[in-house]
Amino acid sequence: MTSPQSNRPLEVACPQCRKKVLWSEQNPYRPFCSKRCRLLDLGAWADESHRITGEPAMDEMDIDALLAQADRDGGLQ
Ligand SMILES: [Zn+2]
Repeated sequence: MTSPQSNRPLEVACPQCRKKVLWSEQNPYRPFCSKRCRLLDLGAWADESHRITGEPAMDEMDIDALLAQADRDGGLQ
């Protein structure tokens, strides 16, 4: 379903710098105003996900505890 008015350019705010930017086929970086803003946003994302994946030292401790427990259980048999 395409409306005949879908040609009207939509204006959005760049998520990075809040600058008004036209949402159009000519803007490959939409909804960002520029390549720089898109990269900055992607960089922030990558940075965050990196921090999250770099964090779970807790999981390793859990695995160690589980292994120790399995060891103990195995020793009882
Ligand atoms: Zn921007």
